[in-house]
Amino acid sequence: MAKKTDLSQLVKQYCVENGKRFRLRDIDPANSGPFDEDFKDDAERILSEGREQLAELQEKLYAQDRWAVLLIFQAMDAAGKDGTIKHVMSGINPQGCHVTSFKAPSAEELDHDFLWRTNKALPERGRIGIFNRSYYEEVLVVRVHQEFLAGQHLPNKLVSKKIWSERFADINAMERYLARNGIAICKFFLHVSKKEQKKRFLARLDEPAKNWKFSMKDVQERAHWDKYMHAYDDMIRNTASPHAPWYVVPADHKWFSRLVVSQAIIQTLKSLDLAFPKLTTEQRKELEAARIALR
Ligand code: ATP
Ligand code: MG
Repeated sequence: MAKKTDLSQLVKQYCVENGKRFRLRDIDPANSGPFDEDFKDDAERILSEGREQLAELQEKLYAQDRWAVLLIFQAMDAAGKDGTIKHVMSGINPQGCHVTSFKAPSAEELDHDFLWRTNKALPERGRIGIFNRSYYEEVLVVRVHQEFLAGQHLPNKLVSKKIWSERFADINAMERYLARNGIAICKFFLHVSKKEQKKRFLARLDEPAKNWKFSMKDVQERAHWDKYMHAYDDMIRNTASPHAPWYVVPADHKWFSRLVVSQAIIQTLKSLDLAFPKLTTEQRKELEAARIALR
């Protein structure tokens, strides 16, 4: 069985704080660290303990009301974003946590700068905000399908070859700003292989309970796989930082990716100085007075 210390070491392996030497091809989506399939049951148990730990940490985050936490999930289709969010976060008080899914932008959203819609959904102090897709789509799907840029109504002279590096710079500046305002950021790329994605799409066709998840559009996007991998690689290289690291999580084994994500969030929360607020002498006196009044 893995000791807690092993798990924190494990999480570090997948954490990118400086992207300079990062290469996506160095990370095998089928990797499951030191564990094999036999570890699956232990992983489920650690995940369940992790849920309890997260619930306690989140309560302190909420009570202290100083930090906010932003968790960003990016991945190819069927990599398991939805399932990971569900399994990792299910023990948390729904009042302290908010999930926002970002789909193709609406006409109103396209009439604004590209960070507008995500800014509106940022978590307030004491809360955990989860972005299921995010402003990173602006350097992923929009980069792979550059025709989407035309729909963004940008002035012509601002659309040049430099646009992707400019977007990286803008995202980095914004994340630094958020970090300096007490928003702890954790970004996850669930790295699934093309082969495993095919298997999961076929399961969506074969199993009636999964039929609703199938989309022909997802299958069409597979044709652009290499372009997506290049875009992810470049994105991580340019936007990983100590205050907003990318966790590149092997996602062919769901039990493993959920374990890594859960431990990474726990470690992020533990790194904050979370504590229940201490009462002042005045407040203690008030409580005493209330006790007497109630009796
Ligand atoms: P699921 O398939 O599990 O329901 P999903 O996140 O894939 O979840 P979909 O409705 O299938 O949700 O897809 C959302 C689509 O919106 C994705 O193809 C994504 O690339 C696209 N999208 C998100 N943000 C942008 C953006 N800024 N510009 C263009 N397309 C975007
Ligand atoms: Mg989809």
